[in-house]
Amino acid sequence: MIIAELLPVEKVLRDPIHNYIYIQHRVILDLINTREFQRLRRIKQLGTTSLTFHGAEHTRFTHSVGVYEIARQICDLFARKYPRQTVGPTGWDDHERLVTLCAALLHDVGHGAYSHTFEHIFHTDHEAMTRAIITSPETEVNRVLRRVSPDFPAQVASVIAKKYPNPQVVQIISSQIDADRMDYLLRDSYYTGANYGTFDLTRILRVMRPDKNGVSFQIHGMHAVEDYIVSRFQMYQQVYFHPVSRSMEVILDHLLMRAQRLFEIGQLTDELTVSFLAPFFEHHATLDDYLQLDDGVLNTCFARWRTHPDKILSDLATRFLDRHPFKSVQVTPATKKLVPKLQRLVADAGFDADYYTATNDSYDLPYDAYDPHAKKPRTQIELIQKDGSHIELSRISNLVAAITGKVQGDERFFFPKEMLAQTAQTEIFAPVYAEFNRYIHNDQIINQGGPSQWRLN
Ligand code: ZN
Repeated sequence: MIIAELLPVEKVLRDPIHNYIYIQHRVILDLINTREFQRLRRIKQLGTTSLTFHGAEHTRFTHSVGVYEIARQICDLFARKYPRQTVGPTGWDDHERLVTLCAALLHDVGHGAYSHTFEHIFHTDHEAMTRAIITSPETEVNRVLRRVSPDFPAQVASVIAKKYPNPQVVQIISSQIDADRMDYLLRDSYYTGANYGTFDLTRILRVMRPDKNGVSFQIHGMHAVEDYIVSRFQMYQQVYFHPVSRSMEVILDHLLMRAQRLFEIGQLTDELTVSFLAPFFEHHATLDDYLQLDDGVLNTCFARWRTHPDKILSDLATRFLDRHPFKSVQVTPATKKLVPKLQRLVADAGFDADYYTATNDSYDLPYDAYDPHAKKPRTQIELIQKDGSHIELSRISNLVAAITGKVQGDERFFFPKEMLAQTAQTEIFAPVYAEFNRYIHNDQIINQGGPSQWRLN
């Protein structure tokens, strides 16, 4: 059994979303104070999204303590309303509290700077890093967890990997309606200033209850759950898939790709870059190399690269730091075949198409009813009816049924803004620009040369 040492006096952190974050266990406070967790203060939660929504400067640190607080509130409610001693085996066993809280706090501890892009270029994996930080004996996080019991780090890691035997614990941290998603939707909505992400957290928590297969919701709270699903749908559409953030991600991706290339041919030699990034360029980075990186370190490298003699590297670094996004248009299955043609035109205008064009897709399922044959089956949201039987959400909510299983998102083609200049500065290239423009109309690639007023010559 786990001995959960309590602090003599409860500590609180102020938080704009939850008002207070309550810390009662010594282990939680000690985990927050580790080197690996403090590093999350230096990593923005939304990466390049802050270049579209300037308020989105919040960090992985604030989100992580927020997820902890929601998980803590769930444990409190479960322990008070549905204790196993009273309810029986479908109730909540409060001995699971500490492992739940630690997993909630640490679920993102392996995230790195600009995670998405960085992982793409250097083949790192934030989930593997999270596991490594929790289970490697040399980390401060591991040392704190081991004080609880020798196998406690492995237990916390197994909750995050969704392998922990108690499904209630796993689903509090990760399911279609979990502490992680509820915190990031509210927090990202607050910091971006986009109001779509709000929903009634207090109400959802009140109607949650533990059961044999995990967590379900009482039917009278259906509208609060619906509202959460719609909020999530809106946030993906309006914030997470925003074309400008994706465009800045493309620039970042190509900037790191160029740096890697120059390093390989011996042309990226400055001490700062080499000391931090060589292990990644050479694909032998250790956990310690990884923990040294944060947004500040990468941004400092980019500031250095701005004056590098390589024109592509310096230009992409400048575009990233000064926020000059690429333009983009939607690609459909019907127009996809035109992309190589457009890439050729970009190359004809003097840009290296490998670094100055890209296609990128962002797709998500707002909600998915359970399909055991799906590649990664998701837990469905179950409502408890008056007679105690369960019904899956989309079977009684028309609103949710309308977006269930529907993939949202799009595929876009990115290119330098200069290609759309109606009066090309360089006369000699004017026909190239004119031809390029004929393929672009209303944020789409079009099949024909376009209406005549769109022709520039
Ligand atoms: Zn998270």
